[in-house]
Amino acid sequence: MLIDGHGRKVDYLRVSVTERCNFRCQYCMPDKPFSWTPRENLLKFEELFLFIKAAIDEGIRKVRITGGEPLLREDLDRFIAMIYNHRSDIDLALTTNGYLLKHVAKKLKDAGLKRLNISLDTLNPETAKQIAQKDVLSDVLEGIEAARSVGLGIKINMVPLKGINEDDILDVLEFAKERGIEIRFIEYMENNMANSTIRGLLGKEILEKIKERYTIKKLGREGSSPSFSYLLEDGYKFGLIDPHKHDFCESCNRIRLTAEGYLIPCLYFDEAMSIKDAVQKGDIEGAVEVLREVLRNKPEKNRWSEDESESSNRAFYETGG
Ligand code: SAM
Ligand code: SF4
Repeated sequence: MLIDGHGRKVDYLRVSVTERCNFRCQYCMPDKPFSWTPRENLLKFEELFLFIKAAIDEGIRKVRITGGEPLLREDLDRFIAMIYNHRSDIDLALTTNGYLLKHVAKKLKDAGLKRLNISLDTLNPETAKQIAQKDVLSDVLEGIEAARSVGLGIKINMVPLKGINEDDILDVLEFAKERGIEIRFIEYMENNMANSTIRGLLGKEILEKIKERYTIKKLGREGSSPSFSYLLEDGYKFGLIDPHKHDFCESCNRIRLTAEGYLIPCLYFDEAMSIKDAVQKGDIEGAVEVLREVLRNKPEKNRWSEDESESSNRAFYETGG
């Protein structure tokens, strides 16, 4: 079992397979031109898998593949199959913008993927274009349908932004509800890579918008999830991720691995340690020692706050969110 320096059990590994993306979301990586990490600096699937296998042996039970846009990495289904074939009971999930999903949904399902989180910030094509800086909506919607049709579990993620998509909250909620998909609203997390003019809605402001149409009952957190669950009067459940309150840090169970092999203990902070040398030498014990060191130093809580809106230097496209 993996326990961090604050006594929290860590059993969830998020693996970013690329920092590249086919979108340029305002809250993530709005600026071009962009210097990407050269492809040769990325860990190969075999190297990432060596670490994942060791981490599973140490107690990791949930693996989420993310990015950048993970579907840009060629042969992702091969990587998913490696993890699935090692231990089929691992909760194996993926976070994607959905743009390429219609081409690969079946391959991913066949490889052993169980669940997907798909980002959907609006149902308005112009607003989608404003956020992603590309005309993306119809492909994303087709991706969602493709994933549903092959039987992948789906959740939708939405980041509400002031003056951009705040009036789309109820529309996206209805879209998810009609399809029996859970939606999670995520507070915008201020970071220095984002467009400096954007402002997010706080959790309470998101709930106010939903209360314009529904009565909401507060449920609670499910296990170590950062998402707080709420129930509408018609029985539909949705989630809210509100890091500005940072009470979810108390039960944080996750650690992040970047495509270059850095282990990151907290989404907010710059700290990271590399497992690259160890896995490239096949030194599993060395990689596990880095993992233990990172866990010993995992921060107690993030520093986003309701009052000061502190910004992080961490790029979401690098850590995978
Ligand atoms: N490209 C994929 C996607 O967009 O779903 C996966 C990577 S993305 C970094 C993972 C999640 O982080 C997405 O749901 C995205 O909306 C969210 N995200 C990115 N930047 C964010 C920010 N500044 N604040 C809150 N959520 C953010
Ligand atoms: Fe790409 Fe996802 Fe970042 Fe948007 S949030 S730019 S889709 S990595």
